[in-house]
Amino acid sequence: MKFARVIVDQSGGAALDYAIPPEWESRVQTGSRVTVPVRHQERQATVVELLDESNVPGIRPISKVVGDRPILSANLLRLARWMAVYYCCPVETAMRAVLPQVIRKGAVGFKQRLSAQLAREIAPEVLAELERRAPKQASIVETLAEAGTPLAVTALLKMAGADRAALTALHRKGLVAVESERVERDPHEGETFVAAAPLTLNEEQAAVFEKVCASIEKPEKPLLLHGVTGSGKTEIYLQGIQRVLDRGQSAIMLVPEIALTPQTVERFKSRFAAMQHEVAVLHSHLSEGERHDEWHKINNGRARIVIGARSAIFAPLEKLGLIVVDEEHENSYKQEDPPRYHARDLAVLRGSFEHCAVLLGSATPSLESFHNSVIGKYQLLRMAQRVDDRKMPLIRIIDLRLDSNGGEAPSIISEKLRQSIDERLARKEQSILFLNRRGFSTSLSCPACGYVAECPNCSVALTFHRSESRLICHICGHTAVAPNRCPECKEAGIKFAGFGTERVEEIVAKLFPKAVVRRMDADTMTRKEAYREVLTAFRTGKIDILLGTQMIAKGLHFPNVTLVGIVNADTGLHMPDFRAGERTFQLLTQVAGRAGRGDVEGEVFVQSYTPHHPAIQFARHHDYDGFAEQETEWRKQWDYPPFSKMVLITSRSTHQERAAFSLETLHRRLKEALPPDTVLGDPAPAPLEKSHGTYRFHLILRTQTIQRLTRYLSEVLAKLPFPDDVTVTVDVDPYQLL
Ligand code: ADP
Ligand code: ZN
Repeated sequence: MKFARVIVDQSGGAALDYAIPPEWESRVQTGSRVTVPVRHQERQATVVELLDESNVPGIRPISKVVGDRPILSANLLRLARWMAVYYCCPVETAMRAVLPQVIRKGAVGFKQRLSAQLAREIAPEVLAELERRAPKQASIVETLAEAGTPLAVTALLKMAGADRAALTALHRKGLVAVESERVERDPHEGETFVAAAPLTLNEEQAAVFEKVCASIEKPEKPLLLHGVTGSGKTEIYLQGIQRVLDRGQSAIMLVPEIALTPQTVERFKSRFAAMQHEVAVLHSHLSEGERHDEWHKINNGRARIVIGARSAIFAPLEKLGLIVVDEEHENSYKQEDPPRYHARDLAVLRGSFEHCAVLLGSATPSLESFHNSVIGKYQLLRMAQRVDDRKMPLIRIIDLRLDSNGGEAPSIISEKLRQSIDERLARKEQSILFLNRRGFSTSLSCPACGYVAECPNCSVALTFHRSESRLICHICGHTAVAPNRCPECKEAGIKFAGFGTERVEEIVAKLFPKAVVRRMDADTMTRKEAYREVLTAFRTGKIDILLGTQMIAKGLHFPNVTLVGIVNADTGLHMPDFRAGERTFQLLTQVAGRAGRGDVEGEVFVQSYTPHHPAIQFARHHDYDGFAEQETEWRKQWDYPPFSKMVLITSRSTHQERAAFSLETLHRRLKEALPPDTVLGDPAPAPLEKSHGTYRFHLILRTQTIQRLTRYLSEVLAKLPFPDDVTVTVDVDPYQLL
């Protein structure tokens, strides 16, 4: 007798043992999906271990094995277990991330298509009879006879001009056979990709590529590729993947969700056009059915390249040769729901489990990764030149404090920026304007009594959106009518302050009445196709000025863009977050990188009220190393990551005092036996104290050895009974500190 240890879906994650009936012994393996009895219910579960003996009294047998093969490889299971410890969550939660919902539920199957063919030769007199009495049936028979091969039922009926009843009649008479066949949903059905040949690498690329190949051959350390925007990193990824395929291996290519644009996918599909069907794309717009099919295509080994956002790190590929993480510094690699994993860190881990090469690339590596290269954990590779020796764009800083013309408030588009856009318009070149804030004005206040229109559910001011002529909360979506007099003191002079993309659009349209201006932000891109439409229009020169939020900041490549204007560089600088400077530096560098990707040199204008801030000055000089050095020094001084590991504990409740009290209790308990090297902060209201009607309190811990701390945390949390209306969450390596 053999036994299986399983973890039941939607349980706390405790492991339970069951006996394996002898007839299933060969089918039940680690990673198999099974049904097991739990009290009086049948529940789905995953086998995590096979045992030769078990001392559970009255052990019950597994009731059913689901599917023919295990759906979780040993390495992925190991990854899930590691996540559970590191990110301080139940194994079951970690496994939920590894296996897509649609696969776990097993409710969606493959799509079936009905096809029909003649069941036997049809004698002329039978056909003649049909023609007289049932012309539609005759038409079906004729169409099938002419085709000579099975036809999809829908197509057949259309061609024959017949309906289903006619086909059913033929089927009943035994003249036509109808069969069901399995077809795969293809999210890219009907698109053709023109094959694109590999480019000849320049010297810098060739040197880097050699190192990448060496690592594919014999993986040692993860590689960190620091290559300036436009240095041709993507070409390195493409050729690296080709190398891996030539060796009979497979590859994962992670891109940030926001960069998972048709443009990126096209580039990959074109390069691998000859093996289009071996490329699987995983993104959040897939239907459940498409996700199901793509997953099985990967699991059966029919897809060998997987491109996707963070969850693609769990793609069930075998014989992995390379994992690429493009724009490795991107925050979207961090999942903000449990399990709160970071896909770049899991890429490194999975790479070591699978003994495959890992390539992290960025024009602005995260300080964490850069530090890892400094201490020798990663190998640093560099590309400092743009392809074809195109120059880096010239960055000019506009000091908005000096731009106020004669005492008036400074204009949103400074005079210098206005002139430069004008020049572009005259030369038929394109411009991009960037502002990381949506809406028309960012607050509504009363100059008489100081009233500010705030969200009733969140501790933020409401943003005015003119197109809907409403106030909207950017945190919870609450909307309200904009008053025209102050609700408190009834004064009529209520004022809009601050500005967002909607306002900039209006100003730009007024300044340049002849230009075609388009705005791209979450408000204008509500339709799925809108994004692609605007980008296509921009690429084909039908738009002169593209204005938008971070949607336009990354990964886009337009040769005719020679000017980028950053309307306000300060928006993210003064956030209460230790990464505020790093984020601003990254954003400025990325946005600036959109300029001058063609033959004409690019120019960038950065408008700011704090022009001397290091993040702005280093970005201006394209000085990553300078920025990293100063930022590292500062983090070291304050013991921020990467010099410590951070854990953020949040308590949430609709009752303010209960949220606060729960965190204080936890704080007292944690203090009792805190592991060494751990610094425990004081509980305090979160910077965004109220969100979606819920009060939030924070507690930050810093440590050198995370696993020891999370084990201790799990123990303490398991024993503390919090009130039902208080939720306490643990975020390891947090990125959302508000
Ligand atoms: P990055 O990802 O580093 O920003 P890309 O890979 O997008 O840069 O490359 C920028 C442009 O240069 C792309 O249009 C790409 O096709 C082109 N390119 C890259 N490598 C080469 C090469 N070796 N020869 C010619 N063009 C290249
Ligand atoms: Zn709100």
